[in-house]
Amino acid sequence: MRTIGHEATWNALDRAFRDDRLAHALLFTGAPGIGKALLAVDFATRILCRGEAPPCGDCNRCRQVEARTHPDLRLIGLSEGKKEIGVDTARDIKRFAQMHGFGGDAKIVIIDEAHRLSIAAQNALLKTLEEPPGRALLILVTESPGALLSTVRSRCQRIVFRPLDDEHVRSVLRHHKLDDDEIDRLLPIAQGSPGRALALRELLAEPDIELLQRTVAGLRPGQYGPAVEFAGALGRTEQEMTARLALLEELMQQQLVEALRAGRTREFADAELRRLAVLSDARVLLRRRNPNRPLLAEATAIRLGAISGHDF
Ligand SMILES: [Zn+2]
Repeated sequence: MRTIGHEATWNALDRAFRDDRLAHALLFTGAPGIGKALLAVDFATRILCRGEAPPCGDCNRCRQVEARTHPDLRLIGLSEGKKEIGVDTARDIKRFAQMHGFGGDAKIVIIDEAHRLSIAAQNALLKTLEEPPGRALLILVTESPGALLSTVRSRCQRIVFRPLDDEHVRSVLRHHKLDDDEIDRLLPIAQGSPGRALALRELLAEPDIELLQRTVAGLRPGQYGPAVEFAGALGRTEQEMTARLALLEELMQQQLVEALRAGRTREFADAELRRLAVLSDARVLLRRRNPNRPLLAEATAIRLGAISGHDF
């Protein structure tokens, strides 16, 4: 196994596979960026590998998985620019799962970001999830299992992934060639998620981050101009907005902790908590399908402004 920090989960899955009692459909849940999809691919490699200590990483099959060309493995995710995984993809999965494995064994399908499956796609998969033909294995990976139909969830065995402890996050970040100073700065805001740390690192390096901080500080009750500026600084795409809202939340949380340590007033803490709630509302709304993003950004700015100025 190459995934870091989920040894117990790996061992349990490995044991179930060896004892031939692995469920046909698995639902991997847990925070984003902690290695759920990586472990799913590792586990698929383990199943397909014919080396001595699977996954050996060296045999033909392991190399095919690595190159994403193994005929018995299909990796599904959200296509670039798409909001959801549609019913056509679900029908493809169904057909694929019904075929006989190339190497005489399992067909494996990994659906990353499974909460992006449309309702029609989820319904189209029900039968496949219920009684996968042959020896197909479906692994659904998601940070938002609540967005899946209960009929989908009930057909899967749920595997819950916990955030990593700091030492594991550190070793993943070292793999990504980050130096210790940078890792020390990122660890407090990583929340056990190396993926989150890497995303925040990229964001913190952006020149736009200063603009974001400046515009949030400029928000005032009833003033529309600064609100529009802040909304612009939040970005346009869902990814940009989600990341920047998360970063603002982090910065405010840190500020709150420091303020409380320094003995600042209760009033400040109350206002800060209300601002945090506004940011978190915005992030939840963003995750729903097709919100009007510019409108959401402005509404968020106005709500933040109403709480009074923010001194970054
Ligand atoms: Zn191998």
